Amino acid sequence: MKMADTVLTLNAGSSSLKFALFDAHGGEDAGALLRGLVEEIPTRPRFSASSADCAPLAEDEWPDAANDFPAIIDRLIGWIEAHRGDNRLIAVGHRVVHGGPAHAKPERVTPALLGELDRLTRLAPLHEPQNIAPIRALAESRPELPQVACFDTAFHRTMPAVATRFALPRNFETEGVRRYGFHGLSYEYIAGHLALTAPGLASGRVIVAHLGNGASLCALKAGKSIDTTMGFSTLDGLVMGSRPGTLDPGVILHLLKERGMTADEVENLLYRRSGLLGISGGISSDMRVLLGSDDPRAAEAIELFTYRIAREVGALASSLGGLDGFVFTAGIGEHSAMVRALVCARLGWLGVELDKDANERGDGLISAVQSPAEVRVIATDEERMMASHVLRTVRAGHPA
Ligand code: ADP
Repeated sequence: MKMADTVLTLNAGSSSLKFALFDAHGGEDAGALLRGLVEEIPTRPRFSASSADCAPLAEDEWPDAANDFPAIIDRLIGWIEAHRGDNRLIAVGHRVVHGGPAHAKPERVTPALLGELDRLTRLAPLHEPQNIAPIRALAESRPELPQVACFDTAFHRTMPAVATRFALPRNFETEGVRRYGFHGLSYEYIAGHLALTAPGLASGRVIVAHLGNGASLCALKAGKSIDTTMGFSTLDGLVMGSRPGTLDPGVILHLLKERGMTADEVENLLYRRSGLLGISGGISSDMRVLLGSDDPRAAEAIELFTYRIAREVGALASSLGGLDGFVFTAGIGEHSAMVRALVCARLGWLGVELDKDANERGDGLISAVQSPAEVRVIATDEERMMASHVLRTVRAGHPA
C-alpha cells in the first residue's frame, strides 16, 4: 500500500480531547479520514474513534492514564500509527483558545511560543492550560514532529478598535483587558465555505450564529470579522448551555459584596451553573433535552436563548449597517429547526423570512425565495480548518 502523509488535529477541552486525522494531500475541502474523542480525562479516560462514514473503529478505557496528558497523547498516537500503518504523521495542529492581542494567524510551536502561551494563561485560566498540556507532551515525546497552534481569537483580529474596547481607563486595555472574540476557527471555516458556495453573499454583510454548548455570533463584512458577541472571555454575549452571557457587572458586585461569594464560587456559577441549565431550574444544559421537556421552565429557557440571540443580531446588524445573510451552525444551529424558526421569527424586520420546509430539512439555503436576507445552515468543521492551517503553516516553512 502506498505511504500517505497525514495531519492530526487536537482540540482539548476541560475534560475531553477531540481528534481528527486528515490526508495531507486531500485538498482543502476533503473530510477527515477518522475522528474520535478521549472523554473523562480527569477521572477515567475513555477513547473512541470512528471512520469517515461514522462507523465505529475502536473503543477503549485508559483508567491508568487519568489526568495524564503525556500518557494519553502517547496512546492516541500509538493507536493512530498502528491503525493506519500505511500513513506517516507529518504535523499536528492544536486548537488554542486564546492567542492574546498579538497572534493574528496560526503559528508553528517553538519553545518561545510555548513560553508565551504560558503567559497567556492569565487571560484564559480555565481553558489555556488544557490546550497547552498536549502541545507540551508532544514537544517532549516527539520533538521532531512539527506542531501548529491555531488560535480561536485570531480570526477576530480584523475587528476595528472601537469593537474591541471596553469603556474602562486606558491602562486596562494596555494590560490586555479588551474584547477578543472566540469560535474563530468555526467562523473562518464558514467564511471560507460561503466564499466557495455563495460568493455573492460572502462579499456582503453576514451574521453567523455558532450555537453549541458555547454560543456566539460573528458579524462578517466581506468575509472578515468586524464584531462578535464574545469579548474578553467566553462568558460574554449569548445565553449558553451553562453560561449566562451578557450580565450586568453590578450582579457580580452584588454576589461578591452582599452574598459574600468567593471569586471561585462566582466563577463556578458563571461557567457551570447558569445559562440554559440555570434558567431551566436545573433540567439540563442540553438543548435536545429542553426541546423534549414539557416543563414550562424548559420553554422559558428556550425563549430566553432565542430572544437574546435576536437582540444581539440587532446589535451586530447595526455594526454591519444592514444584513444580507444569516448562517446557523454548530450543534443547535445545524440540528434544531425549532430554534432556527424561533430566532428567525424575531428577525422579520431585518428582512429574514424562512422557507418552512427547507428549514425542516435544515441544509443549505433555508430562506424563502422572496426573503430579502438569505438564511443558510452550514455544518462547521473546526478540525478541517485547523488541518488546512497546519498544512499552510508547515509548507510556508516557518522556522522551527
Ligand atoms: P460544543 O459546543 O461542545 O462543540 P455542539 O456544537 O456539539 O457542542 O452543540 C451541542 C448542543 O447542540 C447541545 O445543546 C445539543 O443538545 C445540541 N444539539 C445537538 N443535536 C441536536 C438536535 N438534533 N436538536 C437540538 N439540539 C441539538
